[in-house]
Amino acid sequence: MSERRPLIAGNWKMNGMRAEARRLAVEIGTLRMSQPDAEFDMLVCPPFTALEAVGQVLENTSVYLGGQNCHASEKGAHTGDISPAMLADVDCTHVILGHSERRTDHQETNEQVKAQAQAAHAQSLIAIICVGETLEERESGKALEVVCEQIKASVPGDASYGNTVIAYEPVWAIGTGKVATPADVQEMHSDIRKTLSEMLGSEEAEGIRILYGGSMKPENAKELLALDDVDGGLIGGASLKAEDFWTIAQSCPSIS
Ligand code: PEP
Repeated sequence: MSERRPLIAGNWKMNGMRAEARRLAVEIGTLRMSQPDAEFDMLVCPPFTALEAVGQVLENTSVYLGGQNCHASEKGAHTGDISPAMLADVDCTHVILGHSERRTDHQETNEQVKAQAQAAHAQSLIAIICVGETLEERESGKALEVVCEQIKASVPGDASYGNTVIAYEPVWAIGTGKVATPADVQEMHSDIRKTLSEMLGSEEAEGIRILYGGSMKPENAKELLALDDVDGGLIGGASLKAEDFWTIAQSCPSIS
């Protein structure tokens, strides 16, 4: 059994006006504080406009707050962007980077993701770097190769288990209800860890948490979270229902 503390992260995407976001945060914070000693970390990543409101609600809970993206620059002429320092200023501790929706909708590249992660680290934010293959890449037998190339190109040299989390999210499983098989997930996570070990050394690679994301739900969470190299989940749809998000968190195996 792994000694890595599981992380259950909610990606709220572009959902939630502030009142709704506050309500959801109250429910999640209350559930988390009903079991303060439970051996997993919880994180929510609301839209930028709700970060401050949600941060206030979660202030005295142990639920972490994260952004869904950030720019690689500290400040300046980047209309519509948010810097890592701005996220830290509203008490974020984490930031999701390179989500497939950012890679597709905004053409973000591995190189940009790497620069964003370095910028996030400079503000003491934990970067959650997302990777994953398309259906075409999976069906043509290239999934492992594609994802390990993304890891090599998106993870910066200063990455450590203290400042970086990886999220493996097959693009075809996000928001579709389709889930990768446990065997495929374990094989991918193990290959990702091997690649991290070649890049950063075995101590860092053994400590870095690798999350699975893609239609994780209360019904499938236990099986996925029990896999040797799965250290938590990045959850979209099911993180918008406090009870479902909590049930997923409670499906984490205990740390040995
Ligand atoms: C995600 O967006 O990171 C995600 C995994 O979404 P869903 O859980 O809805 O598939």
